[in-house]
Amino acid sequence: MENLHKVIIVGAGPIGLYFASKCEESGIDYIVLEGSDTIGGQLTRLYPEKDIVDIPGIDCIKAAGYIELLKTKINLKKVVLDARVSSIKISDKIEISTGKTAYFCEFLVLATGLGASVPRPLGVEHENECDNIIYSVKSFDHLKNKRVAIFGGGDSALDWAKAISAISDNVHLIHRRLEFRGNPDTIKDCKNLKIHLPYVPSSIVVENGKATSVTIKKVDSDELVTIPVDYIFVNYGNIASLSSFPFKMDNAFLVVNNENRVENKVFAIGDVCQYENKTRRIAPGLKEADKVFKLIS
Ligand SMILES: Cc1cc2nc3c(=O)[nH]c(=O)nc-3n(C[C@H](O)[C@H](O)[C@H](O)COP(=O)(O)OP(=O)(O)OC[C@H]3O[C@@H](n4cnc5c(N)ncnc54)[C@H](O)[C@@H]3O)c2cc1C
Repeated sequence: MENLHKVIIVGAGPIGLYFASKCEESGIDYIVLEGSDTIGGQLTRLYPEKDIVDIPGIDCIKAAGYIELLKTKINLKKVVLDARVSSIKISDKIEISTGKTAYFCEFLVLATGLGASVPRPLGVEHENECDNIIYSVKSFDHLKNKRVAIFGGGDSALDWAKAISAISDNVHLIHRRLEFRGNPDTIKDCKNLKIHLPYVPSSIVVENGKATSVTIKKVDSDELVTIPVDYIFVNYGNIASLSSFPFKMDNAFLVVNNENRVENKVFAIGDVCQYENKTRRIAPGLKEADKVFKLIS
């Protein structure tokens, strides 16, 4: 049968790549199907320059560096890019389709993270016309000494507020609630950072394809504040799309048992899986990969 493999891994984020490295090391037949044109998942897409300090066995490594390290441990010819899996059918074999190509496998490992996602927008008129409204930062040198308004209240907004306020003294962090969802200790020593709680975006002024200011409105009040900006950085997370997978889901996440099994020979590891007290970080994903690898090898 054409395109038949022992293992198909869907998603070339850190957890899918780590699983692929285990297969490579043990000589297990595998391929990785990646929906985007880039290897590395959130680490490459959202924070390549961030130092990661909580991967077991590695003191400190840039996110992009960790992906480069994983790439050295797999056969890159086995990673198919632009192969977004759109349907999965289970019979005696598992059939996976990208719309263009069908693949078959004995074991399916879903490592699709936050999904083939698009960033959630700020939600103001004319947003799409502005090239200085950004949703991820690949390199943040160009934000040095710039006026930046960061929207969001989760860990990534707080991480970026800390990093950018270290290179600019005109950084605003705006969140719609009175308390942050992420760990507020992250920004406790950021003297330059101006914090606005609870405010929501109201409107922007656009000149020549750029937002020149953003006006925010205090929640349950008529109070408006206008912030002149060079950049608006939206950290509202992503809108995931995994709903066509025929498995039990909890919102965009796949419900797994204590073996990380979705059903029979289908497993989910990394950010995409959901169980009680699941933490969406790299280290727990690596542990899940080790557990599943033992079961299939
Ligand atoms: C700003 C920020 C900072 C972070 N910092 C840290 C940190 O310091 N330490 C830490 O441990 N964690 C950190 N995290 C969390 C960490 O990035 C995630 O836990 C990790 O990326 C999960 O890896 P993953 O492989 O499960 O998923 P992802 O990294 O989301 O990768 C999933 C891959 O699957 C692909 N995919 C999705 N759907 C399909 C489909 N249908 N078909 C084919 N491919 C598909 C995607 O394109 C993507 O490449 C941070 C997260 C953010 C946002």
